[in-house]
Amino acid sequence: VPINVLLICGGGGSEHDVSLRTADFIQRHLEAVDDISLARAEMDGNGRLTAPDGRERRLGQDRMLRDDNGAWEVHYVVPSIHGYPGETGDLQSQLELFGIPYYGCGPEASKLCFNKVTTKLWLSALGIDNSPYQFLCSNEPEEIAKATMALQQWGAVFVKASNQGSSVGCYKVTAKEELQRALARAFELSPYVLVEKCLKVRELEVAAYTYEGELIITPPGEVCAPSDTFYSYEEKYAEGSRAVTHVEAQGLSNAQLGWIREASRRAFVGLQLKDLSRIDFFLTDDGGLYLNEVNTFPGMTSISMFPKMLENAGHDFSRYLTSLIRAAVR
Ligand code: ADP
Ligand code: MG
Ligand code: MG
Repeated sequence: VPINVLLICGGGGSEHDVSLRTADFIQRHLEAVDDISLARAEMDGNGRLTAPDGRERRLGQDRMLRDDNGAWEVHYVVPSIHGYPGETGDLQSQLELFGIPYYGCGPEASKLCFNKVTTKLWLSALGIDNSPYQFLCSNEPEEIAKATMALQQWGAVFVKASNQGSSVGCYKVTAKEELQRALARAFELSPYVLVEKCLKVRELEVAAYTYEGELIITPPGEVCAPSDTFYSYEEKYAEGSRAVTHVEAQGLSNAQLGWIREASRRAFVGLQLKDLSRIDFFLTDDGGLYLNEVNTFPGMTSISMFPKMLENAGHDFSRYLTSLIRAAVR
């Protein structure tokens, strides 16, 4: 009997379309697998599922996917959703409740890593260096004063909505006049806002994942944003992206490689991640290394780093994912 895998994509949030592209990638790698039968459904902002035939589907507590004509038993779910409600852990909570195994991190790890404030608290607790920051609980004058001081102290800052990814709600601010507007926009997107010291950096990323029961941490790859901007939403996904990526970063010392590897391992184990993550680092001009963020559901579009690094490590994506599915369902 085949394993029935439900690929849920979209989510109706700011990263809906990117989630569909990631789902295309996953679908291509599961379609040809003998013992897997794949169904796909797109989720809208209200949690409603629509199949490619345009008709609504409902996933029940009895693990059955239903439409007006019948029911299909779901053995495993791949939540292919960047941002809410997938990367935030909300969908995973429901799958836990229904007792359906799924690809990726659990609800708690997802929530902790998606929130940039809790990520930093955890990184510090685990003894992993991360960039200096202030965090704001509201857009009230005394909180804005903290941001103003941070800008004065650091000269340039990144204002970030706490609950976003793909550089949504992330603004580089170098002048006091821009600060209020950036804070207002970030607060529209999330209840907490981070004001981070802007570091002059190289951006390094590793893929950390479980392959046939073993934790794999790839050597770091590098993304080079164009010099006039940072690694924004457009540079990540737009057609004319000018960002250049290297599947393996060049010129790093063994000590730096070792530090990144150990920090990645500690983050993966300490935050109790599962199956996959892309862990991002900053390397400053003076050799300082900081863990920037842990992405529990990294992009898998044609230009994305996670699948490239996995394949560069000699692993086949299809084989990787099917082995996770088989292990979880058996
Ligand atoms: P997201 O979760 O949206 O990807 P990031 O924290 O990774 O948010 O920020 C997006 C991008 O902004 C980074 O890839 C980097 O280019 C730039 N950036 C963020 N924080 C800093 C910082 N402290 N110093 C320099 N660049 C930064
Ligand atoms: Mg992110
Ligand atoms: Mg990022």
